Amino acid sequence: MFKKSSSGLYQSTLIQSPSIIHGITTREHGNMQDETNRDALMQSLGISSDRLYVGKQIHSTNIQIITFGDEYAGANTDGLLYKKEDEHECVVLGAFAADCVPMLFFDEKQQIIGAAHAGWTGVWHHMAKRMIERMIEMGSSAHDIHIIIGPHIGKCCYTVDDARIKKFSIAFGPSSVTEKTLNLSVAIRTDARRMGILEEHIDENEALCTSCNDSEFYSYRKLTKETFGEMMAFIGFK
Ligand SMILES: [Zn+2]
Repeated sequence: MFKKSSSGLYQSTLIQSPSIIHGITTREHGNMQDETNRDALMQSLGISSDRLYVGKQIHSTNIQIITFGDEYAGANTDGLLYKKEDEHECVVLGAFAADCVPMLFFDEKQQIIGAAHAGWTGVWHHMAKRMIERMIEMGSSAHDIHIIIGPHIGKCCYTVDDARIKKFSIAFGPSSVTEKTLNLSVAIRTDARRMGILEEHIDENEALCTSCNDSEFYSYRKLTKETFGEMMAFIGFK
C-alpha cells in the first residue's frame, strides 16, 4: 500500500525499518533530473547531496553496484545496487521515471538496496529479474527481497501496437496485456514470481497511473517538451 507523506512523497508500507528511507517524488518536487531539485529533496531529508547516487539512464538493463565513497560516473546505467558494509555508511540510490516504471528493491537482512528504471524495453529485457539475480549474487535470498513498483503509465493508458501486445502476452502471460495496452506491473510481477519473490513482498498502487494523474505526476506521453520532467524514486540507508 502507498501512502502520501506530509512532504508530498509517496511511500510504501512495505518499508517499516527506521534505518531505511525511501520515497517517490511528485510534480511538487519539480523535475528531478534537475540537480537543484535533488539537492533540495536531500536537504529536506537531512542528507548530504553527495550521498545520492543516480544513473544516466539509457533504457538498458545495465546495473552498477555502488561502493561507498567511490567516485561514481553512472554512465549508461539503469539500475543501481548497494550493500551496506559499515554502520556509518549513508547512501541513497535514485531512479528517474515519467511513465516508465521506477522500482525500488531492498533486503533488510543483507542490508542491500536497489533502484531501477524500466520502460517497456527494460521490462521486456527483464530488468526486475536482472536486479534480483544481482542481489542474490550479493548474498540475498529471494524470499528476503522486497520490491516497490512505483507509479507508471497504467494498462488504462499504455496503448501500443498489436505486435508488442503479442510479444508481451507470450513472454509474460495474457494478464500482462489488454486488447490495446500493456500492463507493465504484471510483467514485472511475473519476472519476480519466477525468481521466487513472495507476492506479499511486492507493493504498488495501480490507481497511480502517471498519464491519468498528470497533474500530480510527469507523463512522457502527455506532456510537451516545455512541461516535461521526471519523478525520482529513491531508497537509502540513513
Ligand atoms: Zn491511465
